[in-house]
Amino acid sequence: MGIFWRRKSKEQFVTLGLNEPQTKPVTEPPAPPEPPPQERPTSDQAAQAKSSEIEPPPLLEPTPTGDSPTPIPIEPLKSAPPAMRASEPGPAPVERKPASARSAFSSSVLGLDLSVEELQAREAALEQEFSARFRRAVSATRESLSERLDSVFVGRKQIDEELLDQLEEALIAADIGVATTLGVLETVRRGVARKQINDLDALKQAIKDELLKILRASTEQGVASETSVPENVSPYVMMIVGVNGVGKTTTIGKLAQRIKAEGNDVLICAADTFRAAASDQLAIWAERTGVPLIQQKQGTDPAAVLFDSLKAAKARRSDVLIVDTAGRLHTKSNLMAELEKMKRVARREVEGAPHETLLVVDAVTGQNGLEQARQFLKVAGVTGIVLTKLDGTAKGGIAVAIAKELDLPIRYAGIGEKLDDLVVFDPNEYVNNLFG
Ligand code: GDP
Repeated sequence: MGIFWRRKSKEQFVTLGLNEPQTKPVTEPPAPPEPPPQERPTSDQAAQAKSSEIEPPPLLEPTPTGDSPTPIPIEPLKSAPPAMRASEPGPAPVERKPASARSAFSSSVLGLDLSVEELQAREAALEQEFSARFRRAVSATRESLSERLDSVFVGRKQIDEELLDQLEEALIAADIGVATTLGVLETVRRGVARKQINDLDALKQAIKDELLKILRASTEQGVASETSVPENVSPYVMMIVGVNGVGKTTTIGKLAQRIKAEGNDVLICAADTFRAAASDQLAIWAERTGVPLIQQKQGTDPAAVLFDSLKAAKARRSDVLIVDTAGRLHTKSNLMAELEKMKRVARREVEGAPHETLLVVDAVTGQNGLEQARQFLKVAGVTGIVLTKLDGTAKGGIAVAIAKELDLPIRYAGIGEKLDDLVVFDPNEYVNNLFG
């Protein structure tokens, strides 16, 4: 599914200190005095002692803020680092250990005890697992599309107008959007006239090519990503916007979890001070992921919370600050002023911030969601989309409608309610999974 979040020198494991030269010191450091044999802990005892020092956070159930299905209990991520408690707000500076000190761990969930090759193999396996889960998430859309496309061809020797009408219905039923569907039909007609399309496989290929073209073209607009921001600029500031209920809080938790699991220091800013519940929900996710959260009481100016968070992030030398924002649209002019002010504050504190503004869109709401998204685009300066609940719909074609009509790239896709149910959206993988 592609690299998840890799700002540090692209594919190299700089954060983990693994691509430092593997030179041995010329002179051996003096050996520490040997403890008496009975005092030396076995590896089992050491592991027990270590786990008893870190009190695991309680497994908490989030209270749903939207109308979607009840959340299910979280299974701890195999690759997840041990959870820590969310710290209290405030810019308390935290000394980070140098990379070389970290790599001295003998057993690490971040893989600090592994070679670069082993880490790459582990990452490949993880990506494969995510690919399989993504395929499952779009299975309802795939089945519905395949069923319709197959039936379009049943008992037909040639592609005629009636077949094209049925094709149109199939694509619109998958929520691919009217404009895209008309584009696809035009291409198909041309292919038929040139005798290039005369069976189901050729037809599917023509549709796939057309959809890919749209998804790829969308990445030329608005796109901002961690790779485009110089390494010396930190924290990387991500603002997350979207109407309530689309899965914004869940997405922040998932993003924090995976970015942290890649070895980054992450901080969350609870700047939706309008709803008390928003901050509470975020606190639950922050605790689950072991990522500190900066929050203040309800009604505080969101820009002030952001200011505090930026200060805290700088003091901690955090790599990433994820900022939650208010999700109400009915007071659009307020929201616009609020977001503008937040952006000004961010820019003043960190060069180029916010570096990325992600709009969260709920795939289940289909064309209605698209309309809400349009409203947001007017006020938020969005650079990319997170499409949530792709697993909960047979109308997953909405991804194409979004890319075409909003002219923005889909950066991530939500494929479930659990902490690790978020993947980098890959147009190729998406299109191949819809039609094969
Ligand atoms: P917010 O109001 O936008 O912050 O929305 P929440 O993050 O509270 O999510 C609303 C509901 O959507 C919750 O029940 C989540 O579990 C659910 N949800 C979020 N993302 C996904 C997803 O990718 N798939 C599914 N199936 N449910 C999701």
